[in-house]
Amino acid sequence: MDKNIYSTARFTGWMRCDICRKQIAETFLKKIVGTLVRDAKGKVHPVCFECQGKFREKDKMLSALD
Ligand SMILES: [Zn+2]
Repeated sequence: MDKNIYSTARFTGWMRCDICRKQIAETFLKKIVGTLVRDAKGKVHPVCFECQGKFREKDKMLSALD
């Protein structure tokens, strides 16, 4: 996991999965239950745990965003 990606994204309240649009839960350590992927333009997209399991690879997650 790229740790810098967490400091790039701002966690204010709930975040939504960019693939399924469901709300992503957050742990008390301010980490999301899921992952963050950075696209070619450098934009960070939150992805929930379910979609992370469904797509596995970052490239597949990014293609699912469109
Ligand atoms: Zn999702």
